[in-house]
Amino acid sequence: MQNNNFGVIGNPIAHSKSPIIHNFWYEKLNIKANYEKILVTNTKDLKENILNYKGVNITLPYKEDVINIVNEQSQEVKIIKAANTIINDNGFLKAYNTDIFGFFEPIKNENIKNALIIGAGGAARAVYYALKENNINIKVINRSKKEDFLCEVDTNLKEFEFDILINTTSASLNNLLPLNEDVLKTLAKNAKIAYDLAYNHDIFLDFCKTHNKNIKTQDGLDMLVYQAALAFKYFCGIYPNEDLINGAKKLII
Ligand code: NDP
Repeated sequence: MQNNNFGVIGNPIAHSKSPIIHNFWYEKLNIKANYEKILVTNTKDLKENILNYKGVNITLPYKEDVINIVNEQSQEVKIIKAANTIINDNGFLKAYNTDIFGFFEPIKNENIKNALIIGAGGAARAVYYALKENNINIKVINRSKKEDFLCEVDTNLKEFEFDILINTTSASLNNLLPLNEDVLKTLAKNAKIAYDLAYNHDIFLDFCKTHNKNIKTQDGLDMLVYQAALAFKYFCGIYPNEDLINGAKKLII
């Protein structure tokens, strides 16, 4: 039976900061709702869990699986084949992807012409879509070949210069750099921005800053809040104002 509540589905889910963000906005906007963590350990249980809520966010490892069980997909979900936000309209499920917006919002005022995406997983596809929409030239590099995503594996990256280096890999979470140190050093020297989708793991950003003190750094915390903000708009019809966005950022640092 559908209730008036919201949540985030994933496995594992204990670490998720999404409830802190959404519940803060409900409280500030006097919305009677609750947002909770929902552990789903098997794909076959996804739909049943989603139907219990008015709306849910979807995180690892279900962003791709979820599109097989919804009734409708937004245009960007159809293209990148991954969704992180589902609206339940009395049993009719519609899928959106707010990671695209969340990723680009913190850098929307930067003058970026060329981008290097490091990694070719689910997050990389949202990043690719956002950059493409903004007419930015893109090269994608990954440690292994992918059937379903245009990425290069053996390119000599030292021959290229990029305005922005975007680490979409999960390497930072294991305190590893996503590329060979020597290559990354050269790329960092020529770049204006280093962006890591991870947060609270600064190895990539620190490395780039060490080799180019003028480089701007951006971690994934802002993306987390902006993707939540657009999801909140889908859930509650209101896009949180700047104070609410900044308040949420302070809560999760
Ligand atoms: P996936 O598992 O789909 O993809 C992981 C990618 O990282 C793959 O390309 C993989 O390469 C690569 N990779 C993993 N380890 C290494 C390594 N040691 N060296 C080089 N490449 C490596 O994960 P997602 O795309 O969903 O997420 C990626 C990152 O983005 C995570 O850190 C996640 O937390 C973050 N993220 C942040 C968000 C935010 O709101 N801030 C939102 C979504 C994601 P291969 O294909 O060869 O295995």
